[in-house]
Amino acid sequence: MIKTLGYLAKFRDWRTLLFAGAAGFCVFSVLAVAVATKVALADPTILLISTGGAVFGVFLGFVGCALRVIRKLNEQNARRDFALNNMAQGLSMFDGQHRLVVWNKNYETMYGLGATIRRGCKIRELLVARHAAGTLPLDPAQYEADLRAALDQGSMFTVDVEMPDGRVIAVVNQPTSEGGWVATHEDITDRKRAERELDNTRAFLDMIVENVPSPIIVKDAADLKYLLVNRATEEYFGVDRAKIIGKNSADMLPKALVQTIIAEDRGTIESGEISYQGEHGVITPGNGMRIVTATRLPVKDIDGKPKYLITVIHDITDRKRSEQRIAHLAHHDSTTDLPNRAAFNECIEATVDLAAKVKESFAVLCIDLDRFKAVNDVFGHPVGDALLGEVARRLEQVCQGAFVARVGGDEFTVITPTAKQPQAAEALAERLAAAFESDITIASHQMRVGLTIGVAIYPQDGADAATLVGNADAALFRAKSEARGSIRFFEVAMDQQLSAKRALQQDLRKAVEQGELALHYMPQANMDGQITGFEALARWHHPRHGLVPPDVFIPLAEESGIIGALGEWVLRTACLEAAAWPNRLHIAVNLSPVQFQHGDLPSLVHQVLLDTGLSPARLELEITEGVLIGDFARAVAMLRRLKNMGVRVAMDDFGTGYSSLSYLQSFPFDKIKIDRSFVANLSHSRQSATITRAVIALSRGLGVPVVAEGVETEAQRKFLAAEGCDAIQGYLVGRPMPIEEYARTVGRTPARPAIALVASA
Ligand code: C2E
Ligand code: MG
Ligand code: MG
Repeated sequence: MIKTLGYLAKFRDWRTLLFAGAAGFCVFSVLAVAVATKVALADPTILLISTGGAVFGVFLGFVGCALRVIRKLNEQNARRDFALNNMAQGLSMFDGQHRLVVWNKNYETMYGLGATIRRGCKIRELLVARHAAGTLPLDPAQYEADLRAALDQGSMFTVDVEMPDGRVIAVVNQPTSEGGWVATHEDITDRKRAERELDNTRAFLDMIVENVPSPIIVKDAADLKYLLVNRATEEYFGVDRAKIIGKNSADMLPKALVQTIIAEDRGTIESGEISYQGEHGVITPGNGMRIVTATRLPVKDIDGKPKYLITVIHDITDRKRSEQRIAHLAHHDSTTDLPNRAAFNECIEATVDLAAKVKESFAVLCIDLDRFKAVNDVFGHPVGDALLGEVARRLEQVCQGAFVARVGGDEFTVITPTAKQPQAAEALAERLAAAFESDITIASHQMRVGLTIGVAIYPQDGADAATLVGNADAALFRAKSEARGSIRFFEVAMDQQLSAKRALQQDLRKAVEQGELALHYMPQANMDGQITGFEALARWHHPRHGLVPPDVFIPLAEESGIIGALGEWVLRTACLEAAAWPNRLHIAVNLSPVQFQHGDLPSLVHQVLLDTGLSPARLELEITEGVLIGDFARAVAMLRRLKNMGVRVAMDDFGTGYSSLSYLQSFPFDKIKIDRSFVANLSHSRQSATITRAVIALSRGLGVPVVAEGVETEAQRKFLAAEGCDAIQGYLVGRPMPIEEYARTVGRTPARPAIALVASA
């Protein structure tokens, strides 16, 4: 009642009450008048009735007001409930005793509280019910304790509750003045997911930026201070990002560069456009000099004002260096670092052009290193390479001002500056030769190499690069064939010889097919003169030049690769021939070193033996030490395969090479052939006699039979016999002839000469 009066008082509609009172009074006054006719006005009954009327009137007024108030309150409650239940969040309100006084539908459904929820239920009950329903993954007691502790201090208590079904509810508990609190419960699942996605995206972007291999720098557009850099920037600058962030270019880079960078930065920010700064050098704080390009990108804020400046650096230092290196390698020889053949070709073309313009002369020197192959072979490739390096150094030292190139294994060329020729070239060639008179020591090995030099002068020896180089080569060829270590200037005759040589080489290509080759057979005999076998020697019957000696055409065949076909023809023909002899004499065939370098020689020999039916024991292969120079291991492996077939291997021209002795150690030869140059000089050279004696003694010591070549006289035979030589070969026994001339020896009946037939007829 008091409350209702309170409401009424609050309602303050006193006019209604007054009006109700007055109305009641009037009604009862009229009744009083009606009664007055029988009752006096002063009668207390009248007053009582009037007062009762007034009170009744006021009562009616009260009732009317109360009904209105109740209606208004109901309307307000309905509005409040409508508002509460239409809130996006859940809402709950608790009084000072922690009892629930107000809540909305969202609160109820959000936590699946169902039957538990009722007005006046305690917070603990609700929390326990939520825990049971799986909508509070926290300890209810602990939750309540934390809540109370916060509220007791008058502070807000907020918590994000992550529910097992994945929903996230943000709860905000706000204390009220009555000692209770109002709590809002907002389902922030989507927001959280979006935040998480944003975080993930941000982390992903950060990871990308961090791992981009190009340096990325973000600066503040206002003061150009570094705000963000990635890992590649740390590497590029050579310092940690902690020492970069917050600094500006002036703190990191040299002054001269800083001005340019600031100008570029400012220019880009002002223009608002992407800008590109081409190749430029940057001296970094900890990574030396780098060559880079830079792309700048200004970033504006939402108001369109410049906010950031992103710079992407493209560090092209390594690419530039490798380009330079590749360019260098393309024009330089990696062993000596001298210009190579390509560089030489370019240089000579340019020099010819220049000399033609200024009408001056210059020289081209082709240089061949003597004995290099032997050094390589005896001491190994690393020593050979070091020797080439030293040769290059000496050449460059002597040829100062000239262009020195390495154009082949042991071939070098020099292009002199334009000067008075041939005097300048002569002086240079002599200085070069002198520079190689002293020993070279490599890896504690002492060695001496000589130079053989061919020279051609522009313009008289050639007005274009190709002719000039060809003629310098011809002069070198001549120098080598005359004497190692000599210097030859080009002469016209050499050119003619060179042309003749090339023509002959052309003809040789067709010689095998056209049946121009033949074999002559030279007998080999024991010391009593009994013939034990023959050496097959190739002959070329040239249609115009007549008989060309093997000393001329074998090197031509080797140079041009024809030796492969030619050698096979010799082997097949000789084996076929020997297989047909009734006397089982042996047949010796010469092999060129080139035949060992290309193809599978042992297989070829095997096939030829099968095809011709010759017993391997009757075949003797003669090789020179040239076979073992170069790829020694491969050559020895091949020789072993040949020997395993039962074929014998003889060391030919023994004593003429560089290290014949060392080769005797490396392979068990079946025969040693003393070169004919020693035998020829036996009578007038004590040295030859001594060497011949020594070789025979050595062979006997090794248990290897020795054959002396070029025995022409009985005196030579006697000497050799006395020294213990096993066999001889030479004009004394027989000259190289077609096999018909030795028909009887091989066991055939010689064909009767036509004239004899006529005579007998
Ligand atoms: P070689 O293998 O040392 O052959 C011996 C050479 O010495 C032959 O010269 C032979 O005629 C010559 N000769 C032998 N005894 C005497 C003599 O008492 N007095 C004189 N003045 N000379 C004598 P040829 O036939 O001119 O052969 C020269 C070289 O050509 C051979 O030397 C051999 O290295 C090479 N050769 C010949 N035929 C072939 C072949 O079919 N294949 C290969 N790869 N080389 C061959
Ligand atoms: Mg021979
Ligand atoms: Mg020989």
